[in-house]
Amino acid sequence: MSGPVFSLRVWGARGSVSAPATDNCRFGSDTSCIEVRAGGRVVLLDAGTGIIPCGRRLKGEGVETFDVLLTHCHFDHVMGLPFMPLLYADGVSARIHAGHFLDNTTCRNMVERFMCAPYFPITPKQFAAGVDYVDFRPPDRLRLAEGLEVATLRLNHPNGAVGYRLDCGGRAIAYVTDTEHEPGRPSEAILAFVEGCDVMIYDSMYTDAEFPAYRGYGHSTWEEGVRLCRAARVGALVIHHHDISRDDVWLEDLSQRARDVFPEAHVGRTGLVIEVAQDGSIATRVDP
Ligand SMILES: [Zn+2]
Ligand SMILES: [Zn+2]
Repeated sequence: MSGPVFSLRVWGARGSVSAPATDNCRFGSDTSCIEVRAGGRVVLLDAGTGIIPCGRRLKGEGVETFDVLLTHCHFDHVMGLPFMPLLYADGVSARIHAGHFLDNTTCRNMVERFMCAPYFPITPKQFAAGVDYVDFRPPDRLRLAEGLEVATLRLNHPNGAVGYRLDCGGRAIAYVTDTEHEPGRPSEAILAFVEGCDVMIYDSMYTDAEFPAYRGYGHSTWEEGVRLCRAARVGALVIHHHDISRDDVWLEDLSQRARDVFPEAHVGRTGLVIEVAQDGSIATRVDP
């Protein structure tokens, strides 16, 4: 029997800044990083602090090649990159992709600009891994491996951000963070982008009730995620990019509230594993 078409593991689901505290240890404190395995590739969605424990695990497994797809380079999405163990391992090759820039910044340029004195003592020249920096402009498509295709979409976020849709073997997942919606008007572009996906990981920083106070911050709500999933026939929602004020009690309560309206809603937490089988069935577990 063959394995799942897509296997996802959440390594970090926090937004803005990592928030380690005793009252949020169950859901975890690391910022955005989702490990995806599909088409024989290891693909890491964002390089928040979650990429550090992820990299340790991959190094232990002997993984020698991987892709990083960056939504954008706000700190919470790149802060783990300088500490990613595999980038300091010999014999490893990595591709880092970015396409959110609104000017002529390049991916290499961006990494060099934040891994340099006086911000950080190590520069990317000291990576032992071979790193390819890949630039694109949405809606460019990327091919990460034979049969593993990636579509890209510009999102509504200060300084730009890019959503990704990965298609493989007739199944699909989407990663849509950070983005702000227009209340009452679901984004036609996002609906078309995520249409029929098995899983969508979505920016759920706020609730609909809180949202009016945060217009212009570039984020969305879990309820908008549910509306998009329903309208675009997405199988499962991963509620992602939790505000730093959310503790375990609040997130457990959210899990219940979200499942009451959309049974396949899952609150992102460190160790959440989601597997999409060839027939579209979805299995989830928490495996810290
Ligand atoms: Zn963010
Ligand atoms: Zn951001």
